[in-house]
Amino acid sequence: MTGSRAVVVGAGIVGAATAYALAREGWRVTVVEASAAVGQGASAANGGQLSYSYVEPLATPAALRALPGWLLNADSPVRWRPRAAASHWRWLGGFVGACRTAQVRCTTEALLALSALSRATLKAWLAEGLAAPSLQHRQPGKLVLYRHASARPGVERQLAWQRALGCDQRVVDAPECRQIEPALPELITRSVAFGVWTSSEEVIDGAALTRALVTASGADCRLGEKVVGFERRGDRVVGLRLAGGSVLAADQVIVAAGPDAAALLRPLRVPVPIEPIKGYSLTLPVRQAARAPQVSITDAARKMVFARLGPVLRVAGFAELVGHDRALVPARLAALREATNRLFPGACDLDAAVPWAGLRPATPDGAPRIGATRWRGLWLNVGHGALGLTLAAGSAARLVAMMRADDVV
Ligand SMILES: Cc1cc2nc3c(=O)[nH]c(=O)nc-3n(C[C@H](O)[C@H](O)[C@H](O)COP(=O)(O)OP(=O)(O)OC[C@H]3O[C@@H](n4cnc5c(N)ncnc54)[C@H](O)[C@@H]3O)c2cc1C
Repeated sequence: MTGSRAVVVGAGIVGAATAYALAREGWRVTVVEASAAVGQGASAANGGQLSYSYVEPLATPAALRALPGWLLNADSPVRWRPRAAASHWRWLGGFVGACRTAQVRCTTEALLALSALSRATLKAWLAEGLAAPSLQHRQPGKLVLYRHASARPGVERQLAWQRALGCDQRVVDAPECRQIEPALPELITRSVAFGVWTSSEEVIDGAALTRALVTASGADCRLGEKVVGFERRGDRVVGLRLAGGSVLAADQVIVAAGPDAAALLRPLRVPVPIEPIKGYSLTLPVRQAARAPQVSITDAARKMVFARLGPVLRVAGFAELVGHDRALVPARLAALREATNRLFPGACDLDAAVPWAGLRPATPDGAPRIGATRWRGLWLNVGHGALGLTLAAGSAARLVAMMRADDVV
């Protein structure tokens, strides 16, 4: 509906993509963001991977089996601090329930369809003028390194299944890993049992993309303004209440508030099962280009990812269920620094590393919640977990298609 006002709550990558997709359809868009700048939440310094073929959710039978070991080992990539809140335990119950093979297959299939839409949508957006050198967008491919040969049969089964769904991935042996990424030291490839190579995977600077989408959308940006409630008329949401006491009228409201969405929507009795899963990253200036990887590397055992974004290497990892705590824990940052130095010695200026921690807005089953709510005029685009950068463009395109089908666009 050209000329109507859509208000997007949250200017992370998902809100930014939503604003851009709506503006393309002729909406007048306002973005309300609690932080003083866009892209300061989970989207600020994430792994930078457009991981279109690696969408399997966190909740799998293998994860359930590994969980006790992870929780008992202080160095493991996973940490859990139990909380009293009933929503926390409901989420955990949902996570355990989602670890069934049939459910994992169903979610993975749905996420592969969404990621294919995302790839096509972002490609079209970049081609229509969004592309810029500052985005550091490339298609270097992704190499996942496995340390134990025992993992190979399971990985091969997964790849065969995903191949039938359109993913082009193959298992490679250790010497070929080094041919694909010559910056990997021989010492490392000797400890690698095999790798999985996906040449079609891409990287992009998520924060730069968030800024570019918001700017290109032409949205009216209300930065530093926190939404504290909703204005309702009957069964319809007609606006937002802001922290300063003012009210912002809206024809349609789209909540893209990442890990804060659950609390924001609770008074409306719109249940969104989202728990923050904390992760860390380091952004390291590349000192010796030949020693730094061009290809995206994932260390499967440590669950760490390495992405070259132009002049810097981004290394990211860890999954901690510790509430909304975004503190930078020195041991986690030291582990990222040590892993970078071990895999790519001399590549980066470790002393100039910029540390970061962010909260993945995770649903128990790994699927985002996109679409209408019980309130007319209120929509969701939330819960993208570890894949928000990958899925943002497709999620925005899907939401706008739903709004169009509902005759509001
Ligand atoms: C360490 C790490 C590595 C990752 N690596 C990757 C990767 O390589 N590839 C990938 O695809 N994904 C990755 N992710 C996941 C990805 O970063 C997230 O899924 C994505 O950023 C979520 O985006 P979002 O817009 O939903 O949330 P956010 O980016 O958190 O944005 C939500 C915004 O809403 C605002 N907000 C909240 N409440 C209100 C309110 N009441 N009023 C106004 N504003 C509000 C917040 O201030 C925030 O800016 C990673 C995440 C982490 C933590």
